[in-house]
Amino acid sequence: MMDGKAVAARLLQTTQTKVARIIEATGVTPCLATVLVGADPASVTYTQMKRRRCEAVGMKSLKIELPESTTTEQLVAEIEKLGNDDAVHGILLQHPSPSHVDERAAFEAIPHIKDVDGVTLASFSAMWFGLPGHASCTPGGIMTLLDAYDVPIAGANAVVIGRSAILGKPMAGLLLQRNATVTICHSKTKNLADVVREADIVVAAVGKPAFVQGDWIKRGAVVMDAGYNAGNVGDVDYEGACKQASMITPVPGGVGPMTIATLIAQTANAAEVLLNVNNEKQ
Ligand code: NAP
Repeated sequence: MMDGKAVAARLLQTTQTKVARIIEATGVTPCLATVLVGADPASVTYTQMKRRRCEAVGMKSLKIELPESTTTEQLVAEIEKLGNDDAVHGILLQHPSPSHVDERAAFEAIPHIKDVDGVTLASFSAMWFGLPGHASCTPGGIMTLLDAYDVPIAGANAVVIGRSAILGKPMAGLLLQRNATVTICHSKTKNLADVVREADIVVAAVGKPAFVQGDWIKRGAVVMDAGYNAGNVGDVDYEGACKQASMITPVPGGVGPMTIATLIAQTANAAEVLLNVNNEKQ
């Protein structure tokens, strides 16, 4: 079992040390602004969790809560204000936004360096080109977890099930960047089970409870379950997959904690860049 909770705790500890050094060197406390439109209960809980983690490592969090009726123009203006605020180092727009909002326009209002959730087109292309930038947090967290368990990535056959902009696609890009041979599957993929059977690394990002069956998993494969469905169930049939996999992430306690820890770590990194903190002096 790959213990995402423990790896995330280590990442947060390293971040806490980095935050203390930034404060000591500059007198400025790194700050993450969280922007929430509406009051969707799950989104309220997620932003609360992110703010708490921020404060736990010594960073500030700035809470921006906007009514459900907020227009795209108003949201963009609010995000631009945060973009121009020197006291803010990272901006997170909690998604999904209400359906009347042009979420892409809102994301694109986030300056590249403050895009600590890795949602802008600039972050996405930087990731594909191997240039500096922030990864989308769940895929970024999955890569950290693979590295923490020394999973060989170069040359591995990696199958990513799901192609969303925040998960499947950036996941594939990060694995490709590390020289995996990557296959991206989606709802139109034929013979999905057979494709998955070829994988050394399987990333499930489907949004369907226990969708990936145990007998789809090649013996010895590494299974990363990004799914989080009602009742604390992942996208993989955990019991079945355990019989085949060499390593597997549980739900909860696998990929989930890594997502928030990655967001917090990326905010500290953004603050370091924005405040010109010299890494060598730390
Ligand atoms: P999404 O936007 O709904 O995307 C789901 C993907 O799964 C789509 O690309 C879809 O294909 C594909 N899919 C659906 N049915 C399929 C099938 N029968 N066979 C193959 N592929 C199929 O979901 P998401 O935002 O990427 O999230 C995926 C899961 O990760 C969810 O359980 C979500 O809760 C979880 N999640 C977890 C975290 C975390 O921090 N742990 C963060 C984000 C998301 P098409 O493109 O063809 O429709």
